[in-house]
Amino acid sequence: MGPKARPKCRLATVSPHKLRIQNPESRNMWIRRPLLGHEASGTVLEVGKNVKTLKPGDRVAIEPGVGCRTCSFCKKGKYHLCSDMIFCASPPYDGNLCRYYVHDADFCFKLPDNVSLEEGTLIEPLAVGVHACKRAKVRFGDVVLILGAGPIGLVTLLAAKAMGATKTIITDLVGGRLDKAKELGVDYTLKIEKNMTEVETVSKIGELLQEAPDVSLECTGVEQCVRVALEATKTGGVVALVGLGKFELTLPLENAILREVDIRGVFRYNNDYPAAIEMVKTGKVDLKPLITHHFRIQDSGKAFHMAKTGEGNPIKILIHPNPDDYY
Ligand code: NAD
Repeated sequence: MGPKARPKCRLATVSPHKLRIQNPESRNMWIRRPLLGHEASGTVLEVGKNVKTLKPGDRVAIEPGVGCRTCSFCKKGKYHLCSDMIFCASPPYDGNLCRYYVHDADFCFKLPDNVSLEEGTLIEPLAVGVHACKRAKVRFGDVVLILGAGPIGLVTLLAAKAMGATKTIITDLVGGRLDKAKELGVDYTLKIEKNMTEVETVSKIGELLQEAPDVSLECTGVEQCVRVALEATKTGGVVALVGLGKFELTLPLENAILREVDIRGVFRYNNDYPAAIEMVKTGKVDLKPLITHHFRIQDSGKAFHMAKTGEGNPIKILIHPNPDDYY
């Protein structure tokens, strides 16, 4: 089936973060392009004639990137590496923070009855955590270090625990974020102080764990944290780089090379939505504590202000495009 004939679903979405569009052909002038948003769920309103797997009324999590389906990456199943991917809110494509949205049906994943639309929005970041843990080969019994307790670090923690990590530690500069990690079940937290050296950080991680981590998942993008991950990880272990920071970093590579520490890049997700949804359905992962704030779409400005300033210690802020969804 060629790209133009892909089965589509029309969805009403509930989404966090992101904003708003002016459809130039619309008389409803309150929305302006470009539309933001790539973490969303929604209810199917209508389906194209070739759609067999979904029906109106189904609630779905939306995987926001669709590959070209014809390049070698897509054909080998690594569609997330497709250079022609259409990804929500990646220019020139609009995002899905809007009331109605059309998407390829096979990138819409039906939510089980016990998973809410709000949890459905967080399947996207959870899929990043699942993919990171798969790339890092997290397995039962592993000791896992996570650097950064932002939303991505926290979902990565949840995924690592669900995938078998038995001892976990997370670092951050912000105490409130470490408190959230404790609520999610991390075993140890380490608050990084401005004057702490990398050597001290590595040593404190070892002291708390009483051993070196098998796997380190870097979720800040900060050079110092990548350096700590490389130094702290057990000989023969894995460092997975999720955070995106400076274009070029200076890293202590020789020690990592001589100790055969594998360094693995992580880019979004690849066939990870089903596992992420299953984790939530079966109760292995509880996403609800991550949702700290809600806004109507017309109050999106306040939501973005909160996300930017960190006032109110937000983790995940949901914006509700449909008035009846939440209020
Ligand atoms: P965030 O900014 O909310 O969280 C980053 C956290 O790192 C913050 O809590 C911050 O306090 C902490 N931090 C900063 N400096 C630190 C230090 N020196 N030591 C310890 N902690 C420190 O961001 P997020 O939404 O959680 O995303 C995390 C990273 O992942 C970002 O770089 C983002 O761009 C990246 N990301 C990558 C992918 C991917 O596919 N690879 C997908 C999504 C996000």
